[in-house]
Amino acid sequence: ADAGVPGRVRVAVRLRPRSGEEMIADADFADCVELQPEVKRLKLRKNNWDTDTFEFDEVLTEYASQKRVYEVVAKPVVEGVLDGYNGTIMAYGQTGTGKTYTLGQLGEEDVADRGIMVRAMEDILAQVSLETDSISVSYLQLYMETVQDLLDPANDNIAIVEDPKSGDVSLPGATLVEIRDPHSFLELLQLGEAHRFAANTKLNTESSRSHAILMVNVRRSLKTSESNGNSHMSKSLKPPVVRKGKLVVVDLAGSERISKSGSEGHTLEEAKSINLSLSALGKCINALAENSSHVPFRDSKLTRLLRDSFGGTARTSLVITIGPSPRHRGETTSTIMFGQRAM
Ligand code: ADP
Ligand code: MG
Repeated sequence: ADAGVPGRVRVAVRLRPRSGEEMIADADFADCVELQPEVKRLKLRKNNWDTDTFEFDEVLTEYASQKRVYEVVAKPVVEGVLDGYNGTIMAYGQTGTGKTYTLGQLGEEDVADRGIMVRAMEDILAQVSLETDSISVSYLQLYMETVQDLLDPANDNIAIVEDPKSGDVSLPGATLVEIRDPHSFLELLQLGEAHRFAANTKLNTESSRSHAILMVNVRRSLKTSESNGNSHMSKSLKPPVVRKGKLVVVDLAGSERISKSGSEGHTLEEAKSINLSLSALGKCINALAENSSHVPFRDSKLTRLLRDSFGGTARTSLVITIGPSPRHRGETTSTIMFGQRAM
């Protein structure tokens, strides 16, 4: 789907390079996938003889730079937000395949490593005028159907409110921080990460078991004088046009089946909760792909949160992240199928 066309989900697949460990341990084995970016195809090796071929809107190899990933996955959504449309960018995949690298990498050592969140903010800051426009940010974690404020740890059960008339979704209890420069945004992300780590240590869980959600509200006051610059009267009388757009960036919980990786009591509850939200997300994505009149947003907190920035006039981009190792072929296959159902 064209990212400029609202309503449909644009799906990109991104392969992470082999890790050092995989280069050694799997040296004798071929990758389980082969990418053909020029024809936007991915071949999944079933065994030594057989492959399945899948098409995506975009195929990003292990050589794709963060800059290119931003341009392909995020830029059209950010442009929509600057024009007053809501939008969502999400990463879905097994833990360790590059969701956080793709979305949340800060690039403190090398700016070329910066991920989508930082690049999106830089892009927005470069295109707005802070004299008339404002950018405000909330940063949340969704864990076990509870919304926690990553900018204020005491705030650990935030309500999601939907305006019955406009359909707008808001979180009146969430901390909202004005952003005026890229540096303060980096600090905010770092603070959020630190709070996330502390909260998850306290809850005895891992960040891969929760969704991290960044919300960026962009409010612009655009002068209308350009359109009728020939008349002094209308220039001074016309109020500025206000455009509001919201960008939601979601680093989803790991998509792996977690029942096998732990057996503590709360792990099963976590597994159920992750399955609930990811399958609710999958159902909404499928409903959009099929142009269904009923999109089941109400089924989970994740999808309730996304309701006004997903489908309809919003632009939505999904990156599915996969690793090359043949050991994870099963998880890789199910990630690919999730992406395929969105198209
Ligand atoms: P996830 O968030 O899906 O669990 P991470 O983003 O934490 O995965 O990535 C796991 C590891 O792989 C990290 O060390 C990360 O830096 C590295 N990595 C992921 N994707 C890439 C990539 N495209 N290029 C280089 N390193 C990557
Ligand atoms: Mg991660």
